[in-house]
Amino acid sequence: MTGESVQYLYDMSEGDASMRPLLGGKGANLAEMKRLGIPVPDGFTVSTAACIATTASGGEWPAGLWEDILDSLTRLEERTGRTLGGDQDGANPLLLSVRSGAVVSMPGMMDTILNLGVGDDTVEALGAEADNPRFAWDSYRRFLQMYGEVVEGVAPHAYEDELTALKARRGVEQDTELSTEDLQELVRTFKDVSRRELGRDLPTDPREQLRGAIDAVFGSWDTPRARVYRRANGIPDDLGTAVNVMQMVFGNRGDTSATGVCFTRNPSTGVSELYGEFLVNAQGEDVVAGIRTPRPLAQMEEVLPEAYTQLVRTMADLESHYKDMQDIEFTVEDGTLYLLQTRSGKRTAAAALRIARDMVTEEVLTREEALQRVEPAQLDQLLHPAIDPEHGRSPVTKGLPASPGAAVGEVVFDADTAAERGGAGEAVVLVRYETTPDDIHGVIVAQGVLTAHGGMTSHAAVVARGMGRPCVAGASKIRIDVPGRTLTIGDRVFAEGDMITLDGSTGEVYGEALELIPPQINEDFQAITAWADDVRRMGVRANADTGEDAAKARELGAEGIGLCRTEHMFMAADRLPAVRRMILAESEDERAQALATILPMQQEDFEEIFTAMAGLPVTVRLLDPPLHEFLPDLVEQSLLVQRLELTDGDAQELSAARRLLGQVKRLHEQNPMLGTRGCRLGMLYPEIPEMQTRAIVRAALAVREEHGQTAGVEIMIPLVAYASELKAQRAVVERTVADELATAGAELEVTIGTMIELPRAAIVADQIAEHADFFSFGTNDLTQTGVGISRDDAEQGFLSTYVADEVIPGNPFESIDRDGVGGLVQIGAERGRSVRPDLKLGVCGEHGGDPASIGLFEELGLTYVSCSPYRVPIARFAAARAVLAQRGT
Ligand code: ADP
Ligand code: MG
Ligand code: MG
Repeated sequence: MTGESVQYLYDMSEGDASMRPLLGGKGANLAEMKRLGIPVPDGFTVSTAACIATTASGGEWPAGLWEDILDSLTRLEERTGRTLGGDQDGANPLLLSVRSGAVVSMPGMMDTILNLGVGDDTVEALGAEADNPRFAWDSYRRFLQMYGEVVEGVAPHAYEDELTALKARRGVEQDTELSTEDLQELVRTFKDVSRRELGRDLPTDPREQLRGAIDAVFGSWDTPRARVYRRANGIPDDLGTAVNVMQMVFGNRGDTSATGVCFTRNPSTGVSELYGEFLVNAQGEDVVAGIRTPRPLAQMEEVLPEAYTQLVRTMADLESHYKDMQDIEFTVEDGTLYLLQTRSGKRTAAAALRIARDMVTEEVLTREEALQRVEPAQLDQLLHPAIDPEHGRSPVTKGLPASPGAAVGEVVFDADTAAERGGAGEAVVLVRYETTPDDIHGVIVAQGVLTAHGGMTSHAAVVARGMGRPCVAGASKIRIDVPGRTLTIGDRVFAEGDMITLDGSTGEVYGEALELIPPQINEDFQAITAWADDVRRMGVRANADTGEDAAKARELGAEGIGLCRTEHMFMAADRLPAVRRMILAESEDERAQALATILPMQQEDFEEIFTAMAGLPVTVRLLDPPLHEFLPDLVEQSLLVQRLELTDGDAQELSAARRLLGQVKRLHEQNPMLGTRGCRLGMLYPEIPEMQTRAIVRAALAVREEHGQTAGVEIMIPLVAYASELKAQRAVVERTVADELATAGAELEVTIGTMIELPRAAIVADQIAEHADFFSFGTNDLTQTGVGISRDDAEQGFLSTYVADEVIPGNPFESIDRDGVGGLVQIGAERGRSVRPDLKLGVCGEHGGDPASIGLFEELGLTYVSCSPYRVPIARFAAARAVLAQRGT
């Protein structure tokens, strides 16, 4: 024991699985296995606290640590009846492994040192004891190489080259074919290599070696490589790593010894079956190193029957103890089985679902526990075609995993070509520096999108996700030459028409066509989302603007539409002239005429959507976008006028162009996003909400007429800041509904609510609630207006720097800013419900499909979330997880 109350050293028998923060994952699980009576070589763990203290003082060990280690070592020597370095005559040597083990498993930490304790003094005794000198010399040469490389930093090839040369001289292929004499020679050679490379001998005192090995593990926690990995994976820098020191067991002691790895279930399919590999007469990582080809675990039954039976039983015990699929390392020494590691096994998304479901059937897990074994991202992967995991190719570059799923197609460099060739049924991948709204027609028909620029919420990413199209964004290492029609990645140049494959779930890009496997909405998927439906409290709706999207959303389990935008209904090319006439109308008559042209078109759109959602609620948002979007561009119109003036053109044409220019100027706004948007437009032109309401009511009645059932109509007024706005707009809608129903002689329930997307609206939500049947938090705009950032500008600019520099924890458009924007939602919800306790509260916007944000919405007691159709299953699942998280289970 050292210093205050920090304990740096733990005998293996002192620990258990709950002590992970101190003992690391490996150490905690080793201790747990020991506790369960599973055979594990004895040892002790230097806790993460020692690593943290050492890192904090720039590499200086805390006082007393070395003495503590020596005490632990003495106890281990007593328990094993062996001595590090051997007794006087080198007999009875204790050999050790020194293994790093962080709290969260991290690749790139220090490699394990095996056989520490073998040396000139002990090698003979070791061989005599095992009646196998070859084994002793094999262990010795392995140790010299590992220690030299890992602790002293000798370049790996320095030793490996000598080994290869020796095998060549002997005319053998396998290490196992080398004789004892060969290995003795190799030990001599390796000592020479170390001296040559380091200018001195390797330390020969095993205690000094132990100290060096432990110190190297501490050091590996703070390498740039480790720090970069932690940052990329959100692992705190102050966790530290533990060091596990254990007695060696030898899988290389002859033909009754072996080493292997196994999983308690198949990690790629999830099927409960024997899965693993082993090698006779081998040590450590020979199995995974690929030097010799390992044999399937089933064959171990013949070779080592007793150890095999015990292993199979232990696998089952460990799995039921941890209630999760385990990834296990084992070694058999002279017929006796030892376990060297167990941890929950990494698995594919499909396997995760299968295992969760099977474990419920097996009554190992409750449904609720099973829900916690699957990550929302895994469900997401299964909703899209994926690259066949057996592909075995390396990516040519990597970008951001902006929209999941895999895409294979020919490279094209512009949206028109994509639209043309994709429209003709060819598989194309649109490759752009970045995409803009002008590229949509290409994105729609492409298999996937690759951009060099932009983040997870760049235009390309958002659009692709919305459409369920795979996208890799911000692949900054690619060079695109649009005029030259080439894509350069590293030293490879792709011409238009060359095949590439994107993995939007990982961000990887492959320079060839890989096999894809179809989306796997299988029984496992359905079972798990159905359990989620039983657990979740919030409703899940979809954002859908067309009948097709609505049908897709329903298929994926949406319980209605939370946001149906009507803008695109105005933007369509065949409607724009009428819309323009309506805006520019100089008399009420003229305006009424234009609206009358638009009305039947709108009605048709609504009929499709209501048919797809019959029996479920549909929230239709009345027209929102800025007026200028319907009008010609100010600059272009000015140029047109100039040209007509200069060319002395047709006088009538000129005066019409001038008139239009005047109108465009009159309606021009400096900052349209904060201009005549949302209900402000309806306040200026009540004819618009009136026309839309008529179209909605007529559509609802027509659908009921035809199908006997219609959708639940909810009309939503956008961008309200003042209660009086909602009051006025509500009056228009109510009056129109009454008028339509009277004319039709029909009845229809219509509810009227509003978007909460301005801070003022959230603050005065109590006043607004007087006139609202429901609120829907438009969290995209609420983030823009609440944080005071324009999304497009911010994401192209400072926002990514903020995220990279950790000024803010993440992009607030991806996951809601809990404290700020989340606070506004909370205020809006509380104040709204203070007036109307039954007020329905929804969220529309991308946060409605984001698991972390859904967690907040559950905490705030909102009624439902609404997200893009493809995210509906994720939202259903995440809403259930949010309930479980709230319960603290
Ligand atoms: P990694 O985290 O890279 O898997 P490990 O610490 O698990 O590193 O060890 C590397 C290899 O050495 C594994 O095959 C492991 O089973 C083996 N090994 C570790 N400790 C011992 C030991 N005490 N006796 C025999 N083999 C060991
Ligand atoms: Mg390793
Ligand atoms: Mg391991």
